[in-house]
Amino acid sequence: MQILKKTQLKALKVARDIGPLGVIERLNKKRVVGRGGASFPVSDKWKYAIETKSDKKYLICNADEGEPGTFKDKLILMKNPETLIEGIIIAAETIGAEEAFIYLRGEYIGLKKILESKIKNIIKKSKTNISIDIVVGRGAYICGEETAIIRSIQGFRGQPYYKPPFPPVEGLFRKPTVINNVETLVNISQALYLNDYNPDLRLFSVSGAVKKPGVYEFPLGTSLVKIVEEAKPRDKVKAVYFGCFGGCMKYKDMELTPENICKEECVHGAGTVIVVDNKTSIIDMAYIISKFYTFESCGKCTPCREGSIQILLLLKKLRGKKAEKKDLDLLKELALHIKETSLCGLGQSSTNHIITALEHFPEEFEELIIP
Ligand code: SF4
Repeated sequence: MQILKKTQLKALKVARDIGPLGVIERLNKKRVVGRGGASFPVSDKWKYAIETKSDKKYLICNADEGEPGTFKDKLILMKNPETLIEGIIIAAETIGAEEAFIYLRGEYIGLKKILESKIKNIIKKSKTNISIDIVVGRGAYICGEETAIIRSIQGFRGQPYYKPPFPPVEGLFRKPTVINNVETLVNISQALYLNDYNPDLRLFSVSGAVKKPGVYEFPLGTSLVKIVEEAKPRDKVKAVYFGCFGGCMKYKDMELTPENICKEECVHGAGTVIVVDNKTSIIDMAYIISKFYTFESCGKCTPCREGSIQILLLLKKLRGKKAEKKDLDLLKELALHIKETSLCGLGQSSTNHIITALEHFPEEFEELIIP
């Protein structure tokens, strides 16, 4: 796997030799994009932070991988932390930050000690003056959202706030802050050093009704069937979910690219593929995922906080075969309303799974309503 290749501080040497503008140019040329879901070019994000004048700047590594069915960053943290730490130093030195943080998912606390010892070694070997501290998250899904991370590191409750200003201009302690996730930072080291670096390789966390759940690496455009077959489905596959937030589609052979996934009204996100077999009810899936969102809503805005509860109640009614056609119409309307009016990405994507399930599997909803 490319993602596990170690760069052994040689990428840092390249970065120091070519300087910040050279790094930006090379990352742009090598097409390095963020791997947290938005696929925003790394060089553009860094440029904002470089161009913003400030006495202090910060770098945050987002290691708060909380999306259900996503565990690719955990693999990197366990098997290639050295290249990640090198990526953090490169990023911090390039944007002019002297302090960096790893915001570590609370459930990954077992990795903290080993990461700390690697950080100590690498800081010594690299002779950098960057400090890297680990902040352990408190187990809230919303803390994967960048403004919520910022508030959490500052000691406040992890809740998002309105943007702009965006963090590269005004972030942690109101200073320019670049936030990149684990996979992105490893790719930065690799793009700078590996001659055969392939920017089209992506990690896929495959789970659900499969015998071999795990992290697989394939180029973008690989067939969905090939990826699912690699994980050995337990039964006939009916649907795939792109995590909880990416929505679902009928299982079929197609090239997995963000554009093709978008044509199915879904979102590629962080490469999560949850396999659903034909014994599983889509309504049960909708109920389980909605329960998750109701629990994880941070409560700051009304559409997400109140709407998620109403969605859950409507699904409960449907599962109990007590819903009428008007309830189904309301479910659809509410799902769209929450998507359009919520403050942050959590609320905006919390009903994707319902909207796409209603689109691709309407019969499963209709057969439960009172005639
Ligand atoms: S959309 Fe949900 S998670 Fe985001 S700010 Fe509103 S209540 Fe909080």
